[in-house]
Amino acid sequence: SSDLKYFEPMDWVIGAGDYLEIAQQEIQAKALQRVASMNIGQRGAFTVLDKAGYILYSPTIEASAERQHYTQVENLAFRSLMREMLLISQKGGGFSEYDWFENGNDESITKLALVKDFEPWGWVVIADMYPDEDQIEHAGWLALSSPYVSYIKQISGVTIAVIILLVGLVWRYRLALIKLQQGVSSQASDAQLAFSRTRQELDIAACVFDTSREGIMVTDADNLIVATNPAFTKITGYEQSSVLGKNPRFLSSGQQTSEFYRALWSSLAVFDQWQGEIWNRTKQGDIYLQQMAISVFRDDQKRIKNYIATFSDRSEHVLAEQQLKYLAEYDDLTGLPNRRLLHDRVKQYIDLSEQRGMQKFSLLFIDLDRFKNINDSLGHNVGDVVLKQIAERLNSIVRDVDSVARIGGDEFAILLTVRREEVLSAAANLSERLMKSLSAPIYSDDLELTVTPSIGITLFPDDGNTADTLFRNADTALYHAKEQGRNNYQFYSVEMNEKASSRLRVEHGLRQALEHQEFFLAYQPLYSLIDGRVTGCEALIRWKHEGKPMPPAEFIPLAEEVGLINGIGDWVLNEACRQGAYWREAGVDIPCISVNVSGAQFKESLLTTVTRALEKTGFPGESLVLELTETALMLDTAKTERILLTLQKMGVRIALDDFGTGYSSLAYLKRFPIDKLKIDRAFIDGLPHDSDDKAITASILDVSRHLGLETVAEGVETQEQAAYLTANGCDVAQGYFYSYPLSPDELETVISKSNAI
Ligand code: C2E
Ligand code: CA
Ligand code: CA
Repeated sequence: SSDLKYFEPMDWVIGAGDYLEIAQQEIQAKALQRVASMNIGQRGAFTVLDKAGYILYSPTIEASAERQHYTQVENLAFRSLMREMLLISQKGGGFSEYDWFENGNDESITKLALVKDFEPWGWVVIADMYPDEDQIEHAGWLALSSPYVSYIKQISGVTIAVIILLVGLVWRYRLALIKLQQGVSSQASDAQLAFSRTRQELDIAACVFDTSREGIMVTDADNLIVATNPAFTKITGYEQSSVLGKNPRFLSSGQQTSEFYRALWSSLAVFDQWQGEIWNRTKQGDIYLQQMAISVFRDDQKRIKNYIATFSDRSEHVLAEQQLKYLAEYDDLTGLPNRRLLHDRVKQYIDLSEQRGMQKFSLLFIDLDRFKNINDSLGHNVGDVVLKQIAERLNSIVRDVDSVARIGGDEFAILLTVRREEVLSAAANLSERLMKSLSAPIYSDDLELTVTPSIGITLFPDDGNTADTLFRNADTALYHAKEQGRNNYQFYSVEMNEKASSRLRVEHGLRQALEHQEFFLAYQPLYSLIDGRVTGCEALIRWKHEGKPMPPAEFIPLAEEVGLINGIGDWVLNEACRQGAYWREAGVDIPCISVNVSGAQFKESLLTTVTRALEKTGFPGESLVLELTETALMLDTAKTERILLTLQKMGVRIALDDFGTGYSSLAYLKRFPIDKLKIDRAFIDGLPHDSDDKAITASILDVSRHLGLETVAEGVETQEQAAYLTANGCDVAQGYFYSYPLSPDELETVISKSNAI
């Protein structure tokens, strides 16, 4: 009858009044069927929602006549999962990793999902799959890289294929509508309404055609191009006008065999469709792999009318590749590098150190104590909040050059590279800070949670020189930390552990030393090589730790590392000035006192410290010498100059300590207001026999004479050395040959003898 239509492409007979809606619905139903039948790996499947959240198809939810909104589904986990997927869709789609509990199973497994929108119908397509237990242990997806990567490839490949399939269906629908329109327009007038609706639908379909990100190419029965869309041009580089009427073989890359094409054509002949990957070539000559679907559109007599090829946007592939790389190397939840990327970086560091000489570093594995409790009792969402917080704290603690990684569920790692500090101290220090920072309370909603870390540390190259060994060692060390009762850190080697703990004791002692007034100063006299008189003395700090004197060369660097040097330095300055002022008062003839200033102290605040010390004690600036090292001066030359000039105005003189061991740059010797050079003991040692030492000493003496600087030889131990230095014009000498560092009383005695006229 006249109000019944045969809707050829779908083999439907439909009424004229509502055939369009039915056609649309049916084509979508058919599309859903196709999507439902598609497998992703062994146990992967698609779920389709519309953007409003109604479930169109789900393998987990039983089909019902009424479309269910996801919030009406009983399964809570499913609900929260769908909410997350819709959020991802709103952000433009992407990958997600999530934990899923199978029905009747309380072990969760991690699944991977890819969310993609199909705009023409307002659909959200979610592809998900399980890890294959044979290949991936429960350590997590990210733990093992290569099978993981292949999963991502598989999932994104299939999903892109589905999207292309959908575009193809929409296009076929359009062709069907055109035919219908032609049919309807030649039919009775009662179809007039239907006709205008057909037009509308056609416009919509045309719009899909024009705006689709997927390329569409329609050929006729002779396989000559009759239409392409803008995406086609974007992807291939060919304008529609230049390809109309051509056979699409110009797109061919020549990479496919003739068997490939035979299979393609026979599939089209038998099933009216083909789907797969094909290598194509752009106008610019780039060859690239594409997901493509081709379907056949036949007329009433079942003769082929058109071929419709739809294929992926290349940027889609690039995006997938990028996401893939990111996913393969970064953790989704925290955005941190994963185990694999960390492993790569460790390897790189080892390679670098081989190329450029040893670059020490340490690898810390950090496990959250009893994290499982949180996850089990409060749920994964709370667990996730904790993990994110921890990740943030880790990131904020380490320097930019160090890597933080998430290497397992609740396991993190830090690759700590070391510049200045000793590698052992740096790792121990960092661990101390980690224990403090990580155990601060974490708030999730109205919960206050506390987690503590166990930390395992391994050192390169001390403990091993391959990434695998270091990973294993860090694991072993972590295991020991757990065994020790958690909330502590352990080094891999026993020896390092002992060093670290003794270091810790020293640090602890140092923190109390000031308060307990354990420091005192020794004074080593400096002798003029011209007249043998004492021209001054150097104040040297002394400390007894646990009853034993500890050399400043050991505790000063530690004090610098742990930030205690300023307090100690202030004390030294004040004490030296106090002693100096006392000597002046008592008439002891000491022209000046030298005080060592560590690099960490050399900043603007030093000026305040010096001013205060001088004011408080009444010791004149003219009698104070500050000993600085070259390294301290080189950090910021403009600032250095400013500080030194201010000191100069106060009458304070500057000696360059350990000269010859640092940069020894003549340029800044001229630039900065420096008064004295102290030739390092290393060069005095070999005098007068070692020719290198002789050459260096002679040239330092030469330079300072030209610059008008006073020269001081450090560590003079023998008569021969003293004689050589005197003969070569050195001004002042200091060393055991003349005197050991002395107590104030002893110094007074020495001076009264040597400086008595
Ligand atoms: P330095 O500034 O080069 O001090 C000279 C060091 O050489 C002193 O060691 C001194 O006892 C030692 N010495 C002197 N004559 C001889 C000798 O003939 N032979 C040998 N082998 N050694 C000699 P000390 O007191 O152990 O200090 C070591 C370093 O610790 C100092 O090297 C200095 O860098 C640092 N230091 C000492 N006191 C202070 C201080 O109050 N503040 C700061 N920031 N550093 C200090
Ligand atoms: Ca010194
Ligand atoms: Ca020195």
